[in-house]
Amino acid sequence: MIIIDGHCDALFKMIENPSLDFFASDLSGLDVTYPRMCRSNIKVQFFAIYLSERIKNPRLDHYLEYAALFHRKIVSDGRIRAIRTRNDLEAVMRSGTERGALLTLEGADALHGNLLHLQTLYDLGVRMIGTTWNYANWAADGILEPRQAGFTLQGKAFIKACNELGMLLDASHLSVRAFWDMAECSRKPFVATHSNAKAVCSHPRNLDDDQIRELIRAGGRIGITFVPWFVSHQGAAIDGIIKHIDHILSLGGAGSLALGSDFDGIDRWIPQLEHAGQFDRLAFELYKRYPDDVAEGILYGNWYSFLAEQLPAR
Ligand SMILES: [Zn+2]
Repeated sequence: MIIIDGHCDALFKMIENPSLDFFASDLSGLDVTYPRMCRSNIKVQFFAIYLSERIKNPRLDHYLEYAALFHRKIVSDGRIRAIRTRNDLEAVMRSGTERGALLTLEGADALHGNLLHLQTLYDLGVRMIGTTWNYANWAADGILEPRQAGFTLQGKAFIKACNELGMLLDASHLSVRAFWDMAECSRKPFVATHSNAKAVCSHPRNLDDDQIRELIRAGGRIGITFVPWFVSHQGAAIDGIIKHIDHILSLGGAGSLALGSDFDGIDRWIPQLEHAGQFDRLAFELYKRYPDDVAEGILYGNWYSFLAEQLPAR
């Protein structure tokens, strides 16, 4: 079993509680830890920079603090490599022991369209940006913003700047209108790192069928997420995750389906999928139900091929 997981908030917990040790072998208060990555053979874990809602005036400094923590506490000792390039990705996938970490940003509030700051984040290894969290910022409206507008002019220019820089784009959390603005503006395929299917569970954070078809058509990816209330309104279980996968497969999504756990961003969990050391049950169910290549695509292959295509060569 190989896993690539497209979203977790471990850095947020580590900022909030600096005593948390990502490499500790005991239960350390984190869902995602290095021993659990090993147990599930997570080859690449995405780590989101997600600022607390308590921060009312986000600044670049806040992002830099996360990036420093990531470099100091996740990728400093050689067991986990920061993935900045296709070379890094291939080295990790070839290696028997080395694992990878991809730094992402969830909510670009502090960037205010500043392209030098965008470049700075890129230089620090950030390779993907979700423009908004749930609410509005200078660039676009999030899915819980009552206005439900799309991208601003400045936000659309930011999409183009990301395309040119090679910064990948994440549409999870965007308003529906903003999603379609991104589909229109982005010259490169984009993804939804942690969203499920609205037709299966009608939560606003989930994607409707037209959005799913668009991501499939454009060569994007959809990270199925383990947030219980995005899986089912009652009794979320691994079976419920399978229903989302079946639905997206029925729309032709075998090459687009991936995983985006949202571990460390949730305070309730799906039974038998309660932390990053527990991917085995889900993998078992996928291999039982689907051809091997489909199961492998969901577990890691579709993230792998996307990153291999979209990351800079070196
Ligand atoms: Zn999120």
